[in-house]
Amino acid sequence: MQKTLKQIHKELKDGVITIESLVGSHKKVILEKDKEVHALLGMYSDSLIESQIKKAKEMFANGTATTLTGIPVVLKDNILVKGESGTGGSKILENYTAVYDSTVAKKLKDAGAILIARSNMDEFAMGGSTENSAYGVTKNPHDSTRVAGGSSGGSAAVVAYGGAVISFGSDTGGSIRQPASFCGIVGLKSTYGNVSRYGLMSMGSSLDQIGPFGNTVDDVEEAYKIISGNDVLDSTSLPNELRDKKREDLKKVIGVPTSFVNREGIDKEVLDNFNQSIEKLKGIGYTIKEINIPNLDKALSVYYIIMPAEVSSNLARYDGIRYGLSHPGDTSIRSYFESRTAGFGTEVRRRILLGTYVLSSGYYDAYYNKANIVREMLKKELSDIYATGVDVIATPTSPTPAFKIGEKSQDPLAMYLADIFTVPANVSGLPAISIPSGKTKDGLPLGIQFMAPSMREDVLFTIGRDFEKIY
Ligand code: GLN
Repeated sequence: MQKTLKQIHKELKDGVITIESLVGSHKKVILEKDKEVHALLGMYSDSLIESQIKKAKEMFANGTATTLTGIPVVLKDNILVKGESGTGGSKILENYTAVYDSTVAKKLKDAGAILIARSNMDEFAMGGSTENSAYGVTKNPHDSTRVAGGSSGGSAAVVAYGGAVISFGSDTGGSIRQPASFCGIVGLKSTYGNVSRYGLMSMGSSLDQIGPFGNTVDDVEEAYKIISGNDVLDSTSLPNELRDKKREDLKKVIGVPTSFVNREGIDKEVLDNFNQSIEKLKGIGYTIKEINIPNLDKALSVYYIIMPAEVSSNLARYDGIRYGLSHPGDTSIRSYFESRTAGFGTEVRRRILLGTYVLSSGYYDAYYNKANIVREMLKKELSDIYATGVDVIATPTSPTPAFKIGEKSQDPLAMYLADIFTVPANVSGLPAISIPSGKTKDGLPLGIQFMAPSMREDVLFTIGRDFEKIY
């Protein structure tokens, strides 16, 4: 059993262990395990690691240490760290060095965390298996023939095998929660706007959030507290006054969208495990309320219109001139074609095409506008459900356990369908967490997802802790 953040913090504080030995032991685990798993794309420079250790020691010495001080942390490779490589899992940024710190990296540095490595991911976070990385797949630490999930598969796998205590990923449609579930750990996507996106490579700007992975709900809460907060550098960041609002008490009511969960394509073991989890929650005093949200099953279609639209616009910046890979052509437009052809993988191209299509003048109203209308309808339906006294909405995190490497990579639609339970939180901007809920008979981890009203991460942590006790 891994030690919790608070336990490690106490040991560091009491001098039972040193920061050097803690970092050293994690590097050793990485050296042993990462050859097989391939969770990481690289270690951060020695000079960065050394300067962070020095700072962490000072913080312990002068009494300003936080729970993350001295703790080895891994970042998904789309979160910028000044002076370090950041590829976004793409060939087009193979030789890119970040020229500034993302707000999340800065907050972690300020908290005394030790950023040690950057993790593998689907190219620009597009995917659900890390098979779309230009640098090879990340294997599931529980079964190396299976995927670790995606797109933040590397961040999930490194915590699962013990190479880091905490890691961070980004979640546009489930990319923290689904790999957390596949790897048997906890993963959080917060309310849209609660964690700054400054210095996160944009995928779908109205959907993206950075969030933590950890072994326990407590660990994830600690990490979340450090990275969240208003940021003047991100115009979509929520004001702090909203966070300090008085909170209503928990009613201990869990909404279950039964017909949405009992759908075609859901794995039998996943469904049985979910039903058992619900029974166990009843056993500790939760009321289960069957709910019906008419547009919940439209969230996936809405997501696969809005997300590519935003992708096609966000990725226009990779033009072979401003950053990374450059294949000069005879004319500037040729350079643009050559660089993007050489730099982007299949899935990224597919989404740029889809996005350009749904935004084109003839189809804008039929697709993009309609998706935005349904998005607003879904938001309203969800807030109406919470207003009836439901604390959280529970579903499985993913309709299947970790699938085989190669099983869905040639079938994009099958891959997209795996996001059915996670995308509603992104489309509606609501916070959601995935927590381990047991294993299949073959030993593959399973996860349950709770989705709370806007700004109610606290509810996720409270119910999450209750749930951990019964599993
Ligand atoms: N699997 C989803 C997709 O492919 C989610 C990606 C994400 O959250 N970054 O778009």
